[in-house]
Amino acid sequence: MKKIREVKFSGIGIKSIEKLEELGLNSTLDMLFYFPKKYLDKTNKKKISDIQIGESVVVAGEITHLQEKRTPRHTILTALLEDESGSVELIWFNQIYLKKMIKTGTKATFFGAVKHGIRKQISAPEIIFGKKVESLGIEAVYALPDMLSKLSFSGAIEKILSDFPELYRENLPHEFKLKFNLMSREQAVREVHFPTNSINLKKARKRFLYEELYMLEYEVLSKRYNVVYEKYHFSGRKELVSQFVKSLHFELTRSQKMVIKEIYSELIEGRVVNRLIQGDVGSGKTIVAIILMLFCVENGYQCVMMAPTGILAEQHFIELCKMLKGIDVNISILKGDSKESEKLLICEELKNGNSDIIVGTHALIEERVIFQNLGLTIIDEQHKFGVEQRDTLSGKAKVANLVVMSATPIPRSLALTVYGDLDVSIISELPPGRQPITTKALFFKTDLYKVWEFTQKKLSEGRQAYVVCPLIEDSENGRFSIESLKPQIESIFSNFTVGVLIGKMKTSEKNSVMDSYSSGIIDILLTTTVVEVGVNVPNSTVMVILGSDRFGLSQLHQLRGRIGRGIHRSYCFLYTETENETTLARMNVMERTADGFEIAEEDLKHRNTGEVLGIKQSGKSDLKIVNLIRDIKAIKEVRDFVKSALEK
Ligand code: ADP
Ligand code: MG
Repeated sequence: MKKIREVKFSGIGIKSIEKLEELGLNSTLDMLFYFPKKYLDKTNKKKISDIQIGESVVVAGEITHLQEKRTPRHTILTALLEDESGSVELIWFNQIYLKKMIKTGTKATFFGAVKHGIRKQISAPEIIFGKKVESLGIEAVYALPDMLSKLSFSGAIEKILSDFPELYRENLPHEFKLKFNLMSREQAVREVHFPTNSINLKKARKRFLYEELYMLEYEVLSKRYNVVYEKYHFSGRKELVSQFVKSLHFELTRSQKMVIKEIYSELIEGRVVNRLIQGDVGSGKTIVAIILMLFCVENGYQCVMMAPTGILAEQHFIELCKMLKGIDVNISILKGDSKESEKLLICEELKNGNSDIIVGTHALIEERVIFQNLGLTIIDEQHKFGVEQRDTLSGKAKVANLVVMSATPIPRSLALTVYGDLDVSIISELPPGRQPITTKALFFKTDLYKVWEFTQKKLSEGRQAYVVCPLIEDSENGRFSIESLKPQIESIFSNFTVGVLIGKMKTSEKNSVMDSYSSGIIDILLTTTVVEVGVNVPNSTVMVILGSDRFGLSQLHQLRGRIGRGIHRSYCFLYTETENETTLARMNVMERTADGFEIAEEDLKHRNTGEVLGIKQSGKSDLKIVNLIRDIKAIKEVRDFVKSALEK
C-alpha cells in the first residue's frame, strides 16, 4: 500500500499532503476510504411555485430586481428571481463580487436551500451558468483542509481508482452479497465519491454498512466458535411448558413465540445460549423468561433470574408463584435484606438441588450462593447491571446459558451485542389489544389543575394512577419533591387512598405498599424512579411526571411503560416549568413517539456519547458507518449469516 507522499497527485502539494496526514490520511487506502461528510443533491429541479421550505432545489429564471444594503457588519445583496410560475427571493451576505456576475435581466440557474423569510427565500444560493446546468448531479462534500480544493481531492480519488484497483478488490463472499442484494465493492466505492443517482448512492452506503458489519461479526464470532464449552444435554421435554402455556389466558405474540423457539433449538442442540432479548416496555419479556426457565427445570436444570431492584424481584417472585401454581416447581427468592437464617436455608436448598428457580437481586452474586446444577441465568433489565455482575452470576453455572433482557437499547447493551458475545432476539410487537398511550407535555399551573381533575375522574372510574417526582425532599436545585407534594396530593385526592413509595423505605414497607397498590387498595401512588423498571399493575392508566425535564428520555420512556399495560386507555402527563428549547424538543419527542429505539437515539443526540466512545477505546474495531442503535436489525441479520457460515 502506497503512502500518499509517494504518489504524485496533480494540484496537491506537500503542504496539503501534510494537512491530509493530520486528518489521518496516510496511505492511498485511507484516502480512498475517506468518505464525503455529506452530499448536495443538485438534481431536484423545480418550478419556483412548487418549491417547499426545507428542501434544496435547483431553480432557473431571470433576475428581475437587485438590491444592495449595507449594515455596519454586512453587505446584503438581495435579488428577485422569476420564472413563468412565480418568483423567489435570493439573498447573499458579504459577497459583493456577485454584483459583477448577476444584473437585472440576467438569466441563470441557482442551487440552494429554501428557507422561511418574509416570503420564501433561498439563502446564499450557488449560481450555475451555461453548460454546467446540464451536468448537474449529486455532489460529494468532503471535510478538507482549507488549502485543498474539492477538485484536486476528487482528481486524486480518480487517480487512485484507476491506478490502484487492488485497494477495492471484492472482500465479501458471493452468497452474502447475493442474500442482502449488495453492490460490488468497486461500484460502491465509485458511487460514494461520484454518485450517479440517489438510488445507487443509497445502495453504495448499504454495501459499506454490511461490509463493516460482516467484518465485525466475523471477528467477534470466529473467536467464540474456537472456544469449547462443557457439553450438556437436554432431552427436550416440554410437558410442563405445554401445560403452562395452555393455562395462560392469552396467546403468546408471534415474536414471543419466535424468541422462545430460537432459544429452545439452541438448548436442544446443546449449544451455549448467549442472548439479549430486546423488547420495548410492555412487550412481555417476563413470560418468555418464565417459559424458558420452566423448560430448563423440566429438563433437569436449575434457573436463576436476577433483577435490579427488590421491588422488581419481589414482583417476579409473586408472578412466578401465581403463574406456576399447580406445577411441581420449587421457587424461592433471595435479596440483600432477606433474613440471615432464610439466606442460609436458601443457599442450602440451591446447593443440594431442592430449589429449582431462584429470583433475586445482586445478593445472588454473593460467593456463598452455589448451585447444584444451574443451567440458565436470566438477567432482567440488564442495562442496570455491569458486565462483571452478569459474568459473576453466570459463572456459577455448570452450563453458562445466559439470557439478558432489556427494554432500552442503551449503548452498553448494544456494545455487548456488537463487541461481546451476545446474540440478539427482538420482540418487535406489543401484545394485541393494547391501546396507545396518549402523552401530553404541560407547562402551566392551570394545566396541572386540569390534570388533577382528569385524574380524579379516572380514579372514580376505578382506575389507578402514578404521580412521579424527581426528588424526595425539597432542595435548592428543584421543586416537586415527594415531601412537598404529599400534602397537596392528599388534599386534592382526599376521597381516595394515597400511597407513597420511595427507594429508601424498608423492604417490608415497600412490599406492603406495592401489594396494596397491586390489589387496588391504594388508588394513587406518589413515587420516584423506583417504579421505573418492570413494575406491572395493568389497572394503572394515568401517570403524571412532575419536573419532567429532570429525567432522561429513556427514563421517561421506562416510566411511561408502567401504564398502557391493560385494556383501558392510558394517559401520560409530562409537567415542567422549564421552557427552554431543549426541553420543548425533548418533551415533543415523548409526545410524538412510543418507539423505544427512536427515543434512545434522540437521547443519545442530547447526551454525552462518552459511553459509545468508551467502547471505541477498548481497542476493538472502530465503527465508521454502523450506528449501534439505528442498525440493530441489520446487525442481527449479518450476525445470523456469519454464525451459520461458521457453523458449517
Ligand atoms: P416487559 O417486557 O416490559 O417486561 P412484562 O413482561 O411485564 O413486559 O409484560 C407486560 C404485561 O403484558 C404483563 O401483564 C403480561 O402478563 C402481559 N402479557 C405478556 N405477553 C402477553 C400476550 N402475549 N398477550 C397478552 N398479554 C401479555
Ligand atoms: Mg420487565
